[in-house]
Amino acid sequence: MWFARHLDSVLRPLFLCCMRLFLRRTMISTKLSLKPNEYYQQTFQKDLIVLHFTAGGTAAGAVNWWSSDQGATKVATAYIVDLDGTVCETFPPKFWAFHLGTSSAKLERRSIGIEIVNWGPLRVDPTDRTKLNSWPRNWLNPFCRFEERDRYVHKLWRGEQFWMAYPQAQVAAIRDLVAILTRDFSIPTQLPPASKLMEFDSSFFASFCGVAAHHNFRVDKTDVGPAFDWTTLGV
Ligand SMILES: [Zn+2]
Repeated sequence: MWFARHLDSVLRPLFLCCMRLFLRRTMISTKLSLKPNEYYQQTFQKDLIVLHFTAGGTAAGAVNWWSSDQGATKVATAYIVDLDGTVCETFPPKFWAFHLGTSSAKLERRSIGIEIVNWGPLRVDPTDRTKLNSWPRNWLNPFCRFEERDRYVHKLWRGEQFWMAYPQAQVAAIRDLVAILTRDFSIPTQLPPASKLMEFDSSFFASFCGVAAHHNFRVDKTDVGPAFDWTTLGV
């Protein structure tokens, strides 16, 4: 019994450490790093992870957008997960930047933001009802055909009906990244209760610790939206 108990206390941290190193080496890229003046190099305790989508097609596009003001607003997230599952760390997650746009600086500081490359809502092409488009060029940017049912989710929510699906490789990378961050920063591994998961509730989420989405903090935001399957996080 003694051996079994202590074996677990030795092997488990060792296993987690190896897993972390493995994931770090294989998954986390720093190819899209921000300049030090584009985020706050101040350390606060983290107890919250917030998922976003980029409303764009590439990770580089999101980072270029943040960098376009040369650090004036310090809007960014520490991570972006690309469509193929590549995880880019744009700045060290112990630091912070604005990613929620609420009136609470405390929320921004205690949270780690993860952007997920995804167009978000899709709309039916006005001249060809068999196609779905994303928002650029006034919702004329082609995304997929209706028959490609694995590329979108059909659910009426916050005024939109169709949502870009999250590819499997991307979902797996998000799950791994959340596992690493909850462990590294001792963030509670919990989701909002089912009744709050897709809701905006500023007073509830002001003190929530765990994994949440931007749409929980802003009624005017649709990320991470109904296409994201929370059960895939394994939290
Ligand atoms: Zn967002």
